[in-house]
Amino acid sequence: MKINDNFLKIQSSYLFSNIAKKVNAYTAANPDKPIIRLGIGDVTRPLAPACIDAMHKAVDEMADEKTFMGYPPEYGHKWILEAIAENDYRQRGVEIDESEIFLSDGAKSDCGNIGDILSVDNKVAVCDPVYPVYVDTNVMAGRSGDFVNGGWSNIYYMPCTAENNFLPCLPTEKVDIIYLCFPNNPTGMAITKTELKKWVDYANENGSLILFDSAYEAFITEDDVPHSIFEIEGAKTCAIEFRSFSKTAGFTGVRCGYTVVPHDLKCDGVELNSLWARRQATKFNGVSYITQRAAAACYSEEGKKQIREIIAYYQNNAKVIYNGLKECGFTVYGAKNSPYVWLKTPDNMGSWEFFDTLLNEIQVVGTPGEGFGPSGEGYFRLTAFGSYENTVKAVERIKNYFVK
Ligand SMILES: *Cc1c(COP(=O)(O)O)cnc(C)c1O
Repeated sequence: MKINDNFLKIQSSYLFSNIAKKVNAYTAANPDKPIIRLGIGDVTRPLAPACIDAMHKAVDEMADEKTFMGYPPEYGHKWILEAIAENDYRQRGVEIDESEIFLSDGAKSDCGNIGDILSVDNKVAVCDPVYPVYVDTNVMAGRSGDFVNGGWSNIYYMPCTAENNFLPCLPTEKVDIIYLCFPNNPTGMAITKTELKKWVDYANENGSLILFDSAYEAFITEDDVPHSIFEIEGAKTCAIEFRSFSKTAGFTGVRCGYTVVPHDLKCDGVELNSLWARRQATKFNGVSYITQRAAAACYSEEGKKQIREIIAYYQNNAKVIYNGLKECGFTVYGAKNSPYVWLKTPDNMGSWEFFDTLLNEIQVVGTPGEGFGPSGEGYFRLTAFGSYENTVKAVERIKNYFVK
């Protein structure tokens, strides 16, 4: 036999396992010093009561032979696809047909699996810093080339730094697949409709595909920031969108998301929608009934209200971190439309050096920007997903340490 030796190319020191190692070593040596974790992008608030009620009810239905459900429809029950089309799209002036929506176990799987329907010969473009899934899944698929000088030889990197206000510049060579994530993880920065239109135009002119990850759309507060790429004219012929209930409704442990593949999106006359439908029907057996009921409850009146309150809780944390750091004299970005605060490390500290300082001196854990790509060096990510109390405490510790 032969293995897929693309897997051997993947960098073994994964960012979050590195962080975990350092944190575990510190805790073992200093068991009396409690750590505040504002690192990993996982939520901490419990699910909305509307979701919990819907799940309990669904469990009871599974217990009765009259209402028991076996395999769900591959792409999602009609009632949830309708709710998505109505609430996430129609109410924002976008017409998406239910047959264009594919319910799944989350956006990470979909972002990774979408490569199944795309040739290995495509040239891929990613932002730098980047959500590592986009890069690693292309390495596995054999699209990346080799790792040389800190980057993959066949991946086109688009640096996003303070110099360009964390918005990628249009490629200067032809690229085929462009991953865009806005509001962005890790920088927390958003893109306006005007800026996103430039990408849609680029993709339509060049026959490129935009893979748009809008996992953080629920955190948008500014009017000129699109929640969906399909709010942009022309996007249906060049874009696929990934959505998730993870950050919107705290489903990181429940697992549910969806992907929108418009019928108008074609390559040499072939609809990508039909390829994705075939791919999902072959390799995926649908989202559990209980989970679909929980996700559908996010669109009920009380569900919407409860979820908005949870998002507001995190948004307030983001503001506490952003304002607190600003008062300390840090240069800070993000937070306004996202749960992430992206800060410039003080005194040109390396981002891992800054990580070590926060951990060892004040027991606050964040994420070094360099872990997301070379252009993340000199930056650091803090997340708003902690509790309010811990967030305030972490900001106090930073103030006491850095303001002399
Ligand atoms: C958290 C996150 C997701 C969501 O992934 P799920 O698999 O749905 O939990 C997607 N994209 C980005 C950039 C994320 O940070």
